[in-house]
Amino acid sequence: MKDKHISLGKLLGIPINLDYSWFLILALITWILAQSYFPQEFKNWSQFAYWFVGLITSFIFFLSILLHELGHSVIAKKYKIKVRRITLFIFGGVAEIVKEPPKSSAEFWIAIAGPITSFLLAGIFYLLQIASSGNEYITAAFQYLAYINFILAVFNLIPGFPLDGGRVFRAIVWAITKNFKKATNIAANTGRFFGFFFIMLGVFQILQNNFVDGIWIAFIGWFLESAAMSQIQRQALNDLLAGHQVEEAMSQDYGIIYPDSTIDEIIDNHFIGANRRCLLVKDDNAIVGFVTPHQLNSVSKDERHFKTIKEVMIPEQTIIKVTAKSQLLDALKTMDENGVAQLPVVEDDEYVGVLSRDSVIRYMLELHRIGH
Ligand SMILES: [Zn+2]
Repeated sequence: MKDKHISLGKLLGIPINLDYSWFLILALITWILAQSYFPQEFKNWSQFAYWFVGLITSFIFFLSILLHELGHSVIAKKYKIKVRRITLFIFGGVAEIVKEPPKSSAEFWIAIAGPITSFLLAGIFYLLQIASSGNEYITAAFQYLAYINFILAVFNLIPGFPLDGGRVFRAIVWAITKNFKKATNIAANTGRFFGFFFIMLGVFQILQNNFVDGIWIAFIGWFLESAAMSQIQRQALNDLLAGHQVEEAMSQDYGIIYPDSTIDEIIDNHFIGANRRCLLVKDDNAIVGFVTPHQLNSVSKDERHFKTIKEVMIPEQTIIKVTAKSQLLDALKTMDENGVAQLPVVEDDEYVGVLSRDSVIRYMLELHRIGH
C-alpha cells in the first residue's frame, strides 16, 4: 500500500503528493466535462475544444482542491499543529494533520478553513466568469469552476465526520459537552448515517438509470461510512490502550541469532521451528542487527542456503525501537508511520523485548477479557 503516489514537491513546507488514483478521477471529470457538461451548455464547439477546455478546467478544479487543503493546513500551522502531507486522490484531497487539535476552537477553525477557501474560490471564479464574457471557452471554464467550488464547499459542510462539516460539528459538541470522546462518537455516528444515506441515494439513482451518478454517489457514501467507522474503532482502541505502557504488551519471545548463520538455517530453526517473528542479531555480546520475516523473504529461495544474516539484517544504528516505559499508543503510531509490524524494545540501552502487532492484539484481548 505504500508509495502509491508521486511527490510534487513542497508548498508552505508541506509535501504535496499525487496518489495514482487521482489520474482516474482527472480522466473521469475531463470526460464528463468534454462529453456531457460542456456540450449541453455550449452547442457548437469542436470536439477538440470540448476536450481541451475540459482538461484545463479539471486541472484547475484540482488546483482548487489543493487550495482547499492548504486552507486547512495554514490554520493548522497557526495552531502549531504539523501537517504531514497533502494528498490528492480519487475522492479529492486530504491534508494529513499529525495529531488531534488540542482544543475545540482549533478544531473548529482548522475544519472550517477548507470550505471557506472553496466559497472564496467560487466567488472569485464567478467574478472572473462575468469579467470574461467575451470568450465563450473561458467563460465556460470559469462558470463550471464557480459552480463546482460552491458544491465542494456545501458538500464538505455536511455535518458527518470525517467531512469538514463533521469536524465543525464535533468541535461544537466538544465545546458544549467538554468531552472530546463523546463529541467524536456523536460526529462519527452522524458521518456513518450520511454514509448510508449516500449509499441509498446512489442505489436509488442507479434504479432510476442514472448509472454513473448513482455509482459515484454510492461510492462516496461507502467511503464516508468506512472512514467514520474507522474513526469509531480508533477511538475504541485509544480508550482501551490509553495509559498503558509498551512493557505491558511487549513479548520476550524473540530469538537471538548470529550474523554468520545462513538464511535457510534461521528459517528452519526460528520461523518454522519456534514460530518467532522477531530476531535480534548478536555478535560479541552486543546486538548488531534486527531481522523479521520481511528481510528473510526478500531473499530468493535459491540464494537462501548461502546468503547470511549480516547481509540482510537491519543494522543496529538504523533499528527503529521504543523504550519499555513509552506509551503503547505512541509505539503503535511509530509502527504505522514507519510501516513496520515489529519494534524492538529497549530499557537503559539493553534490549528487553519486542513489541509486535500480534503481541498488542493479544494484550488487547487480555484487557478485554478482564474487563479492563
Ligand atoms: Zn476540507
